[in-house]
Amino acid sequence: MSSPFDLSSKVSLVTGAGSGLGRTFCEAMAENGSHVVCADVNEVSAKQTADLVKKTGIRTLAIKADVSSHQDVRAMFEQVKRKFGRLDILFNNAGISSKSLRLHEMPLSDWNRVINVDLTGVFLCMQEGVKLMLGQRKGSVINISSVLGMVGRAAKANYCAAKAGVIALTECAAADYGPDGIRVNAIAPGFFSGTKLGESAGLNAGETQKLWAAMAGRTALRRVGEPSEIKGLAVYLASDASSFVSGATFIIDGGLVSTI
Ligand code: NAD
Repeated sequence: MSSPFDLSSKVSLVTGAGSGLGRTFCEAMAENGSHVVCADVNEVSAKQTADLVKKTGIRTLAIKADVSSHQDVRAMFEQVKRKFGRLDILFNNAGISSKSLRLHEMPLSDWNRVINVDLTGVFLCMQEGVKLMLGQRKGSVINISSVLGMVGRAAKANYCAAKAGVIALTECAAADYGPDGIRVNAIAPGFFSGTKLGESAGLNAGETQKLWAAMAGRTALRRVGEPSEIKGLAVYLASDASSFVSGATFIIDGGLVSTI
């Protein structure tokens, strides 16, 4: 009997696949038998991930695509349709942050940049991605939000608003496409090491370490997460193991937002 976690012959697409959690989602998909499309605005890192996860029996494809560009997103899904003819699993993972600034000091350009990538990017990729899934009457969309989509944080209005929006988009899309057999869920990670998100927030390596140490101190498990620790949840949501789960947001934060 095959495992409910088995993903063989499925086709997965991960945005922001070139680094951090996106690379980890690609690994998790490949390790469980899925073909993987690794998409990133950074072409070199998308290719590196595709090479890294390549193994016998699965096909990989690297695509350069900016999720905030409608044109890039359309072209990306057209390429997936041409090469694979289907899409089973979509991770809307690409995300950025910006320098921490209180709301009244935040330039509109910073607001727009983060909203365009972290929120509009998810909208655009769902719009084009579900078109492939509708014909199959099956699919799993996994949107990457954040615990900062559930609670506020000083000087992070753009990021928190975008990530809260991702949860709302997830719930609306689950309602829209449930009747078509497409499940839509969100993951809300806490703080994870080994990613470059701090860089996009303008933090240097030392400042990132300091932030992780501060967050570890406020977390029940007294540490930040390792990217590999998100694989189990990713495979669960991608696979038939979660066949009756839709519209849900899963916190994976070592006990950060639930404890004081
Ligand atoms: P990361 O910076 O390591 O990776 C982000 C990837 O997205 C990079 O490869 C980058 O090139 C790509 N990217 C950026 N803009 C893009 C665009 N416009 N189009 C396509 N790709 C683009 O960061 P990460 O920590 O792995 O973040 C992945 C996701 O997880 C993000 O949505 C982030 O908000 C979320 N998240 C991360 C943490 C954490 O602690 N690392 C916590 C909560 C949520």
